[in-house]
Amino acid sequence: MDLHAALVALLEPGRVLTRPLDLIAYASDASFYRLIPQAVVLPKSLREIQALFVFARANRVPLTFRTAGTSLSGQAVTSGILAEVARHWKGIQVEAEGRRVRVQPGVIGSHVNAVLRPYGRRLGPDPASIDACMMGGILANNASGMCCGVVENSYHTLAAITFVLPNGVVVNTAEAGAGERLRQQAPALHRGILELKQRATAEAGLRNRIRAKYGMKNTTGYSLNALLDFDDPADILGHLMIGSEGTLGFIAEAVLHTLPAYPLRYTGLLFFATVQHAGSAIVPLRDSGARALEIMDRAALRSVEHLAGAPTILKSLPESAAGLLVEYQCTTLEELQQAREAAQRACRALALLHPPEFTEEAAAQALLWKLRKGLFPSIGAMRRQGTTVIIEDVAFKVERLAEAITDLQALFRDYHYDEAIIFGHAKDGNLHFVITPSFNTDAEIERYERFMASLVKLVVEKYDGALKAEHGTGRNIAPFVEAEWGRTAFAIMKELKRLVDPDGFLNPGVIINDDPQAHVRNLKTLPVVEAEVDKCIECGFCEPQCPSRRLTLTPRQRIVVRREMARLRAAPGQAAWLDSLLADYPYAGLDTCAVDGLCATACPVAINTGELVKRLRGESHSRKASRRALRLARSLAGVEKTARFASRSAHLAARLLGADSLRKMTVVAEHVFNTRLPKWNRAMPSPPRRLPKTAQVGAHAVYFPACLSRIMGRSQAAGFSLPELLPLLAERAGLPVWIPPDATGHCCGMPFGSKGYTEAFHETLHRIIAKCWDWSEAGRLPIVIDASSCAYTLRACEHDLEGEDLLHWRQLTILDSVEFVHDRLLARLQPRRLPEAVVLHPNCAARKLGLTDKLQNLAAACAESVTIPEHLDCCAFAGDRGLLLPELTQSATALEAAEVKARSYDGYYSSNLTCEMGMTLATNQHYQSILSLVERATRAEG
Ligand SMILES: Cc1cc2nc3c(=O)[nH]c(=O)nc-3n(C[C@H](O)[C@H](O)[C@H](O)COP(=O)(O)OP(=O)(O)OC[C@H]3O[C@@H](n4cnc5c(N)ncnc54)[C@H](O)[C@@H]3O)c2cc1C
Ligand code: SF4
Ligand code: SF4
Repeated sequence: MDLHAALVALLEPGRVLTRPLDLIAYASDASFYRLIPQAVVLPKSLREIQALFVFARANRVPLTFRTAGTSLSGQAVTSGILAEVARHWKGIQVEAEGRRVRVQPGVIGSHVNAVLRPYGRRLGPDPASIDACMMGGILANNASGMCCGVVENSYHTLAAITFVLPNGVVVNTAEAGAGERLRQQAPALHRGILELKQRATAEAGLRNRIRAKYGMKNTTGYSLNALLDFDDPADILGHLMIGSEGTLGFIAEAVLHTLPAYPLRYTGLLFFATVQHAGSAIVPLRDSGARALEIMDRAALRSVEHLAGAPTILKSLPESAAGLLVEYQCTTLEELQQAREAAQRACRALALLHPPEFTEEAAAQALLWKLRKGLFPSIGAMRRQGTTVIIEDVAFKVERLAEAITDLQALFRDYHYDEAIIFGHAKDGNLHFVITPSFNTDAEIERYERFMASLVKLVVEKYDGALKAEHGTGRNIAPFVEAEWGRTAFAIMKELKRLVDPDGFLNPGVIINDDPQAHVRNLKTLPVVEAEVDKCIECGFCEPQCPSRRLTLTPRQRIVVRREMARLRAAPGQAAWLDSLLADYPYAGLDTCAVDGLCATACPVAINTGELVKRLRGESHSRKASRRALRLARSLAGVEKTARFASRSAHLAARLLGADSLRKMTVVAEHVFNTRLPKWNRAMPSPPRRLPKTAQVGAHAVYFPACLSRIMGRSQAAGFSLPELLPLLAERAGLPVWIPPDATGHCCGMPFGSKGYTEAFHETLHRIIAKCWDWSEAGRLPIVIDASSCAYTLRACEHDLEGEDLLHWRQLTILDSVEFVHDRLLARLQPRRLPEAVVLHPNCAARKLGLTDKLQNLAAACAESVTIPEHLDCCAFAGDRGLLLPELTQSATALEAAEVKARSYDGYYSSNLTCEMGMTLATNQHYQSILSLVERATRAEG
């Protein structure tokens, strides 16, 4: 069968992916399992989901759903068809003034919380992965986190759910008569569910067992409590969908009850001499009202003691010590006062190593949470190359937690997992531990298998605990569901799967798996590839940040494909796949990376995939090309003159020939010369006439207009060119700036650096640092730059400098124009608030510089209403990338542009010329520098 053709008949060509590059890109989730799908599909509608069900059943091909692929137990990978439902299922609607929210599977959890924030509400489920994972996975894994416990999870906050069963029947539990309709459409299933309910409730022993298991956090097996809690088969099935890991049907939409957000917090890190002392503190602290209680063993605390701002006490704790991070969360000041008193009362009775210290300060609280959240990444970053990071997830009765920790520590010693750390949500008896085995040898796999057998014995036999508290059963615990639940309950689960999915095509092998070794099959090896990315744990946290994620690859996928190439090189006989990957990677992996480094901002182990891309781009340049780039770097003044001329000519040509013709001519020229050329676009500003005249004497700052501002900085609306704006504002504020006459011909070097022309980049940097040193009078005056990306390049270039350049750089103050105007001019300018609604695009460089708030404050000082789009993305214009590959910017800005276009604004602003071009193209609205808004709001009235 031609699978591609068959699936295209059901969907459409662009939404069926079968190239080796695509299949490998989707072969990994965050777990240590790896399966290569036969096809990846991107369904859009219920009709397409139903068609996929019919196809998978008829052709006996497994079908697995996937949203963000951050699962840890192997439930989002398949050797069949992978249906990615992250891209087209983005619906979100607030209902009942925020008390409920309607979501589709492709919405990121933290986006839901952002939309709920103005209502003072939030989601119940709070997985640590909430900035990346999506509602489909949160619901289907019944994910939870630090505070959610057993009452605020998806199961308990579900108001209604719409799902598609494997037989194609669509059920919406909100509709009156949903159960009756199910009876008519699928009588055997309806009857079967009632029979299972009967089996689960008939016997007090089983009933009590189910109740007891869900009194504790538990995601092992199916949510059998649905059989006890509900009577109507539609409601029962709706709740069984929660935690079903895509094995029972497709969740199309859910309505969730929301919970109050807690703006006030009271947080402290307590230390104890032993785990036992920490264990005894859990119940009193929980009963005093603490909403988060995070336990950390000594090894865990040691793994973060080197982090900046970590309390010094960490280094002197005894070997047996443990810590508890305690947080009270409140809505009113009165509640906060009660929390203070309750915490003090509870602490008086505890065996603490040191007097308790609590804080209400956001920065200090953030530091404490940084330590807690840094535990997993620190182990990931410190591990040996080629090893995997496994984070396990077990639960015990709170009263026996300390004993369980001691037993787990002994288990690690027995199996020589010396690097293991333990931490977890103590309030709910939920422990995570991290180990870093390698699956590159049989001996290591065998050690892991033996370890798992002992772990199961310990958790189940000694403690009657849960083998999976929140991460889902997946493939990892599937062989042990019966061991944990017992024969009767497991038989009900098996029967449930058979009843709902008799052909077993939905995510087979997950939750129910007859193979006792399923947990050690399809393990992911992690070949060593390149230093920049070897620490990658394939968690997927970087994916929502990446502007190329909807066009080609995400950062994780760029790494995953590099790893596959290494595997294929080591395994002869796979030449066709390797050749195919090698052919497709240059465009998908390298050309379409905007090298904006946004991936690093979300990566727990701080990987900037853009750095790898830059190096690989550099390696692909011939010596001749590198020399040419170096020559160019040494003669930038001439280049600038030519570029101004070219820009002017292009504008003239566009006027004479029309923008479309000019663009088409470029495309023809690309074919003729077999190279990628910048495409003309209507958003390109023309060159400013000349740089304004400024005086050096009395200047409060040096203003270095970025090279693109000098070449294309002519504003189209405000009447001023970009290089004119800052001197004008500075003059108005009485703090004049000076533009050095020899600024022309200098640049931050980013255009060379981003393309991997390292020598040329270093040469440009060397020249500009030397100039900045002179201009600033050896660092006395700040240097202000009017393009955030250039300001960022000069602020983040430490590792590219050496010798005198580095010494000088350390004494320079380099400011983005946004922070200069915000910090030094704004108070003197006293803008009037214009009766306008404006929208901002805080570009990626401004975000990395931490300038979003300042940009917003500036706008708020000058306009009545300021919006930052919910779907703010990087525009991927990246200097000239948007000119060379317009499709990248188009794809990167699609969601943000749709959101901006849905409303009309009086002004559109950013702080980087190329990003303004990108957003102008995407929205058909004229984006300008924020300085032009400040200029209008500070103009003398009259
Ligand atoms: C570093 C790290 C920390 C984590 N911390 C936590 C934590 O604190 N708590 C926690 O619970 N989890 C945690 N996880 C695990 C994981 O992030 C969560 O379980 C998350 O909810 C999975 O969401 P996802 O969008 O990535 O789902 P995916 O991994 O894409 O899919 C998860 C499951 O849902 C199914 N699925 C997806 N969409 C649908 C649909 N529409 N219909 C039916 N089935 C569907 C898939 O088939 C799969 O079985 C963590 C993961 C990592 C890497
Ligand atoms: S640098 Fe930017 S475009 Fe490249 S992988 Fe990272 S986030 Fe994606
Ligand atoms: S690059 Fe970082 S964020 Fe991305 S998958 Fe790897 S470890 Fe996770």
